[in-house]
Amino acid sequence: MNKNKRIDFEPIKIKIKDRKLFADVAFAIDSPFFIRRAKQIREKLNISEPFRKKDCYLWIAKNLIKKKGKKFVKEIYEEIDNIRFEMNLTVNYECVFLKAVFGCDIEDLDYESTYLINFQDPPAYICYSRPKSELYAIVLTPQTQEKDVEKLYKKYKETIAKSLRKEEIFDNFDFGKGKLKRTRKWYWIRYGDVLNGKLKKPKTYPKTLEEWWVKCPLNKIGETHKTDRELKKCPYCSITDWNIMETLVPIYKKRLKNPEG
Ligand SMILES: [Zn+2]
Repeated sequence: MNKNKRIDFEPIKIKIKDRKLFADVAFAIDSPFFIRRAKQIREKLNISEPFRKKDCYLWIAKNLIKKKGKKFVKEIYEEIDNIRFEMNLTVNYECVFLKAVFGCDIEDLDYESTYLINFQDPPAYICYSRPKSELYAIVLTPQTQEKDVEKLYKKYKETIAKSLRKEEIFDNFDFGKGKLKRTRKWYWIRYGDVLNGKLKKPKTYPKTLEEWWVKCPLNKIGETHKTDRELKKCPYCSITDWNIMETLVPIYKKRLKNPEG
């Protein structure tokens, strides 16, 4: 086991179609707090590259439970759960945090913000031992009307607003279509090396833009766009100054769940 091996943390692939759910996940697992803690766990487990499509549960069973015992695995699970808890995020993020620590792709069913619960068959997190939970259930019956649900949602908002999370939960979601994923990529270009401890300061915006241009498939093979019209269609080359990065990246950064303020 090489203890000095540097482990770079790459942006986790988020394959969630819904834009708001995508953002919920991104704002959690792109946070410097999460990345720092996840890296510590990866180092402990000697994981040197993201699992991507590899099944982390199977890996845990084969490599950890067998070799290091159940107690060790329980401690790892607790450690991962503590990250979520310290970030003040509810138990519906459980799977996201586990998969992200191992660098697995996050897919549609890994995270949901709203559930229907059948109390004859309650999910495990209902009996979850952690005392702090902002997870409530709206119970529907065949007699329920839509306005009843709305009323309860408003009541939930009032209740939860009195707790720690306040406006953080219900603030307006401000990333338009297409903007979110692109801004995330810019964030990672600008801050990736800082997050991985390679640079003290983030890359400048001109440098970020330069590295963005390099991603153009034509640029990669040493060619350029033949017409202006073609250039304007290119998501990379069409960004001609860094103003837009300077506007959006700080918004993205501000939205990251950072318990350290
Ligand atoms: Zn291009």
